[in-house]
Amino acid sequence: MVLLKSFKGGAHVKYYKGTHGNATVTMPVPAKAVIPMLQHIGAVCTPLVKKGDMVKVGQKIGDSEAFVSSPAHSSVSGVVTDIKQYLCPGGMEVMSVEIETDGLQELWEGIRPPDRLDKSAMVKVIRESGIVGLGGAGFPTHVKLSPPPEKSIDILIINGAECEPYITSDYREMLENTDDILEGIDIVKNIVGARKAYIAIESNKPAALRLFQGKAGSCGEFGIVGLKTRYPQGAEKQLIYAATKRKVPAGGLPSDIGVVVQNINTVSFIAKYMRTGMPLISRRITVDGSAVKSPGNVEALIGTQLKDVFDFCGGFTEKPAKVIMGGPMMGVAQFSLDAPVLKQSNAILALNAGDAILPEESVCIRCGRCVTACPMNLMPLYINAGVMMRDFDSAKKYNANDCMECGCCSYVCPAKRHLVQSMKVAKTEFAKKERKPVMIDDRVN
Ligand code: SF4
Ligand code: SF4
Repeated sequence: MVLLKSFKGGAHVKYYKGTHGNATVTMPVPAKAVIPMLQHIGAVCTPLVKKGDMVKVGQKIGDSEAFVSSPAHSSVSGVVTDIKQYLCPGGMEVMSVEIETDGLQELWEGIRPPDRLDKSAMVKVIRESGIVGLGGAGFPTHVKLSPPPEKSIDILIINGAECEPYITSDYREMLENTDDILEGIDIVKNIVGARKAYIAIESNKPAALRLFQGKAGSCGEFGIVGLKTRYPQGAEKQLIYAATKRKVPAGGLPSDIGVVVQNINTVSFIAKYMRTGMPLISRRITVDGSAVKSPGNVEALIGTQLKDVFDFCGGFTEKPAKVIMGGPMMGVAQFSLDAPVLKQSNAILALNAGDAILPEESVCIRCGRCVTACPMNLMPLYINAGVMMRDFDSAKKYNANDCMECGCCSYVCPAKRHLVQSMKVAKTEFAKKERKPVMIDDRVN
């Protein structure tokens, strides 16, 4: 029996994890793949190919000299038909390589298992794989594996919370590739020098909890942290607190308190990559929502367009009123089904009009529920009031920048105030003033 841990605040959301039982099905190669040069937090890549070039599976087609960046690889073999701006799931136009596939899936000659070297060489090897946080954050993994030398890491936490409604991509990885996850934990633990690794899993995934408990009994190299089912349990700071009782300081990083967190699919990929040398060219994506005919978990090549993924799932039962990349709490609404699957795309949802409705706001009744729910200890009602008055100094005073946009405040608000939107507006205004890109410092997994 695992003692369940949690954090302060949050919300009990409806989970809709109807695809828990859907084993992963691999999609066929699409006729066209669109590989964006920005599928991560950090610097955009420069294309390494030109129109008319033939490319093969696993070939590097984009890279950057910046440390905080991640190379892009071709997921298909075929011919480059264009390099142009494409509307991507994040809502931005991104330079992308468009490839007409030849259906042969010829492998690039350079694919071979990398050597297992010392820690810094391993970080470079992992960078070459193109891996980024597969829980949705898209933060380049090699950066997380390179904490500053003065920070001593003693704990590695593997995030298997997957607390966003609908998404079951991590859960399926836990059931389908358990040994890859354990192998990946070992590799990452050695790289960061952690003395202990914990796998953290929410209580609404009892089969995964049982599976890893059984494995822990046999090898004892890691611990299991059972988590209460509460959103946003998978957010990095909340997860660390639940697992270790350590608090990441405001504006700080997990490495400041000796912790590195990695998503469960990410560590599993690292094990597969070290065994095969195949870079990140595909991922599991949960396809769900009230307008989807046959929801499920699909292994799709990176660059497959959303319309092809939905077609593979039987199409729509009715015209979707809203398509979301990611979960309903933190995902991004999509304008076009031509947008491609990215490395960090863990779900696409198509919702009917009934589910997509945005409730009308009424006046704040000062009930304080948003304050109780906020896992970052913010006062969303005051930030919202500041933004409504265009008083951004007030929004700053109430620390709108610390908001991770989890959506708990909006979810619990009886007046249906558009609180998260206020946070986004405030952060955009701050960024404009400081001429910085808008960043969400935390992501819910
Ligand atoms: S939950 Fe909504 S109504 Fe209640 S205090 Fe917050 S903003 Fe106001
Ligand atoms: S203010 Fe931000 S962090 Fe707090 S509940 Fe709302 S969205 Fe989440």
